[in-house]
Amino acid sequence: MSAAGLTPSPCRFCGAPILWAQTKNGRAMPVDAAPFPRDQIAPSGRWRLVREGGALRVFHDVAAIEVAEVWVAHFATCPAKVPSAKRGGLEPAIRERLAYYEAARAAERGA
Ligand SMILES: [Zn+2]
Repeated sequence: MSAAGLTPSPCRFCGAPILWAQTKNGRAMPVDAAPFPRDQIAPSGRWRLVREGGALRVFHDVAAIEVAEVWVAHFATCPAKVPSAKRGGLEPAIRERLAYYEAARAAERGA
């Protein structure tokens, strides 16, 4: 039930490693390739990744199922998508990761 072993692709906006998963409605959703410890993420932001055959599926039912790690939608951590003005209100773990992606993107641009 782990997403380990999957090869991430870079976000086309910020270059962060993301995985594309399918929601129960069949929509493609980008999630951060790296999970978070469950307790660092508010319940509304927790997603569970499940590999089913060749497909990667994402479920929003983490509240009902005990898991140690959760995934977040990349929209929540993408420096290109989260306006600076909104970052102060982010959860610390999310804000940290967003800052990390932004620094990595800046370093890449400077290289
Ligand atoms: Zn991004």
